[in-house]
Amino acid sequence: MQFCPKCGAILVPKRMESGKMQSCSCGYKIKNKQNFVVKEKVEKKGKIEIIGQKLETLPKVKEECPKCKNKLAYYWTLQTRAGDEAETRFFECVKCQHRWRSYT
Ligand SMILES: [Zn+2]
Ligand SMILES: [Zn+2]
Repeated sequence: MQFCPKCGAILVPKRMESGKMQSCSCGYKIKNKQNFVVKEKVEKKGKIEIIGQKLETLPKVKEECPKCKNKLAYYWTLQTRAGDEAETRFFECVKCQHRWRSYT
């Protein structure tokens, strides 16, 4: 059981579109701890990594590099969270190795 840090009332678990939340009658909302851990890990890393794949084997797509404007990039996807979010697309410029991601 968790208590509201704002008013001290018992927080009520709720299911939201973005995941499980605990909310209070005063309007305070907190995401479940589990989600916090996942988020922290992602933010601390701050680096885009390819997991279990060699770059040479990745497909190339016509995508403009935001850094050097080269129009060819390696492409791969990752599921960031368990099923409740669309997969994230990653690109790496074949020319300058700049990496970026796309959420669309
Ligand atoms: Zn409260
Ligand atoms: Zn580039």
